[in-house]
Amino acid sequence: MTQKRRIIKNDKCHLRWCQEAGAHAVHRQYLTSFLTDEGRAVGVNVVQSGDRPRAVELTMLPRRGRGQTVVFQLTEAEAVAKGMRAGIRLARPR
Ligand SMILES: [Zn+2]
Repeated sequence: MTQKRRIIKNDKCHLRWCQEAGAHAVHRQYLTSFLTDEGRAVGVNVVQSGDRPRAVELTMLPRRGRGQTVVFQLTEAEAVAKGMRAGIRLARPR
């Protein structure tokens, strides 16, 4: 059973872009999430841990079992995005 709880002002993070509430070690903003045809939940977030620079996080949750998280630094995320765009162009029906 899930509990619904209002986020009170003290729960909000001091970083305006962060959407995490309460005590947290990693600041995170949720950008997108979707279900793949195989039933995996995939999410893309911006994250920052401590004083490290912000990075891009990709989360993959299968229907069962443990999920996986990969954190990309900016240049890595740009390479993945470039590869995805190239894949989309090639996969698009002509
Ligand atoms: Zn935060």
